[in-house]
Amino acid sequence: MFSAVLINKDDSGQTVEVAQVDEAQLPEGDVTIQVAYSTMNYKDGLAITGSSPVVRKFPMVPGIDLVGTVLESSHADWKAGDTVVLNGWGVGETHWGGLAQKARLNGDYLVPLVDAFTPRQAMAIGTAGYTAALCVDALVNHGVTPDQGEVLVTGATGGVGSVAVALLAKAGFTVVAATGKASEEEYLKKLGASAIIDRNELSEKGKPLQKERWAAVVDSVGSFTLVNACAQTKYRGAVAACGLAQGADFSATVMPFILRGVALLGVDSVMAPKAPRLAAWQRLAKDLDPALLEVIGGTEIGLSETIPAAADLLAGKIRGRIVVDVNK
Ligand code: NDP
Repeated sequence: MFSAVLINKDDSGQTVEVAQVDEAQLPEGDVTIQVAYSTMNYKDGLAITGSSPVVRKFPMVPGIDLVGTVLESSHADWKAGDTVVLNGWGVGETHWGGLAQKARLNGDYLVPLVDAFTPRQAMAIGTAGYTAALCVDALVNHGVTPDQGEVLVTGATGGVGSVAVALLAKAGFTVVAATGKASEEEYLKKLGASAIIDRNELSEKGKPLQKERWAAVVDSVGSFTLVNACAQTKYRGAVAACGLAQGADFSATVMPFILRGVALLGVDSVMAPKAPRLAAWQRLAKDLDPALLEVIGGTEIGLSETIPAAADLLAGKIRGRIVVDVNK
């Protein structure tokens, strides 16, 4: 038996509890894992509260990220004792996830824990940090280099934004952080931002083409912020779009794309193939100083605390990342 957050649904609605689960109930998969840590992402908050139909099958164990030790494997890449990381792949939505002491997964989903981080640090990074690394890789692979000028990061104090600021700064880029929290200037500068702008400068409808400022952009906000970021991107610059914190709408014109050759690069972390996943974790290992994880901060909670934390997370009451010690 092991402990797991278990979401059930019947005609009277959704229930969620920390339950004792028999190992025989674990779903199919070729790698069984003793989970050490998981995290709470926005998506996990939606799953636990049931406020959005994230969960596609019941009963479900939420948790889109996990790190742990392989107990048993019939997959060629993994053997008992390996430390593995899982981000996404629909885990916690269609397949039992990380908010449990045990998990059974398809070995193709897994990547090795990089030497640079402890298991706990890997979860402090989580999907948010791994997505930030995918965004930076997308820009660099497009050909953006530090000598081309300033790079804008929107949603800068968020999970994705904070790690993007740190990774870009370490890679030599001049980073301008757009935030709604003027009080977090010192925090963003500690992460490596050179300057801060008020996110309100970007959040309203603007002209289709604006003064060229950014060599590149990492955007986790969407809506008019993304539209304006494209309109302010320099000739042949690139914009990596991964989020919708302001909104999923994108009421843009094609002008930046057809007159300035701006590239809009979509970034998805969930179904990303193995090669970009490994590359993203290598970038994190190389360019994210583990000491900055202390600056980004956060809270550590146990399995039973995830249920009340889910509502707080959705209400924006939690600063920094939430690491879940599933054995606490
Ligand atoms: P967080 O909630 O940690 O951060 C989002 C940040 O966006 C906030 O901290 C805030 O930054 C800013 N923000 C919030 N509301 C608004 C608003 N109305 N207008 C403008 N800015 C706003 O989320 P994450 O960083 O974890 O995720 C960011 C986005 O990326 C989310 O939409 C998430 O769903 C998406 N995502 C996508 C992934 C993918 O695979 N494509 C993977 C992971 C996340 P500030 O206060 O500094 O302005």
